[in-house]
Amino acid sequence: MKGNEFIQQFEKKFPLALAEKGDPVGLHIGTLHKPIQRVMITLDVRPEVVAEAIAKKVDLLVAKHPPIFRPIDRLVTDDPQIKMYADLLKHDIAVYAAHTNMDIVEDGLNDWFLEELGIKVTDYLHKTHELDQGLIQVTVPKSHSQVVRDALAEAGAGKIGNYEQCSYTSVGTGRFTPMSEANPTIGTVHQREEVAEEKIEMVFPIDTLAELIKALKESHPYEEPAYQVIPLMTGKKSYGIGRVGELATPMPLEEFVSHVKEVFDLQGLRLIANNTDRLVQRVGICGGSGQKFYPAALSKGCDVYITGDVYYHTGHDMLTADLPVIDPGHYIEQLCIPRIVSLCEQWKEKHHWNIEIIPSTVNTNPFSFR
Ligand SMILES: [Zn+2]
Repeated sequence: MKGNEFIQQFEKKFPLALAEKGDPVGLHIGTLHKPIQRVMITLDVRPEVVAEAIAKKVDLLVAKHPPIFRPIDRLVTDDPQIKMYADLLKHDIAVYAAHTNMDIVEDGLNDWFLEELGIKVTDYLHKTHELDQGLIQVTVPKSHSQVVRDALAEAGAGKIGNYEQCSYTSVGTGRFTPMSEANPTIGTVHQREEVAEEKIEMVFPIDTLAELIKALKESHPYEEPAYQVIPLMTGKKSYGIGRVGELATPMPLEEFVSHVKEVFDLQGLRLIANNTDRLVQRVGICGGSGQKFYPAALSKGCDVYITGDVYYHTGHDMLTADLPVIDPGHYIEQLCIPRIVSLCEQWKEKHHWNIEIIPSTVNTNPFSFR
């Protein structure tokens, strides 16, 4: 299969449109217009990871962290961090990054964190996107209505709040007369036809329109499906970075800290708190580097906030605001590796892909505890 075929499915799950403004997501190195056999999933692209990819004959590297986050001004390969780009090109390894879109998308990395902690997600932490919605209306013979509904849902239509596959159907009669050039699925040329049809209506994010029409045309039995798209004035769909969730029962902060340490298998973590006896129930999280969202955790009434890379002075601000913060480090984001591998395995089975999906096994955490 081709690399772009893989990425097309990948972007259905992690749309580029959901990345933060200016975040360099997408293809970074090489090309997707080539056959691929082995895809490796990694958190970081480091020289050690590149060596691993070369040794394992990888064709496409999918990373959480964009390998070229800040512009490079020279390509002098004496620097190992620059040499790895040359090595990737030399071995025809493409690199693709899904960064903040993975933090923002529903059922993304921050949802996975809370799932691991046994916490039910109730909200996002900080709103980042408000996408316009459209309504698609399509008529289809009754025999095919479920197939088309499923295809539209698969392409992202029918999501309302915490509900998916939402649709409305009304029953009616479709009438048409195929002309000379037509190749009708039902009916005969020059004869008026009447078919028992259903009209399906589903909402969808406007950004996915092209994908949706493609899914409609592929699943619809007619040569010329009759459909229309109406932009909606109401019901914009909002997305946000980070998540808020509730523990089933409140627990002392001290106990919760141990829980976080155990779940993420940490040798140590940093705690910013005025006291550890207080009870916590509402938990905010933004994995990676989310200290700038601590005011959002406060305004959403979080009892504790989990994020990495907290600066010394921001730690003071958090203490003064009396918001307990757990900094488990940035590396807990490695959770994305098994999760993405498992998603890819599902797609592979569904689409009968003949490729191998492998996790990177290099530990890219720059920190260790003594
Ligand atoms: Zn990160």
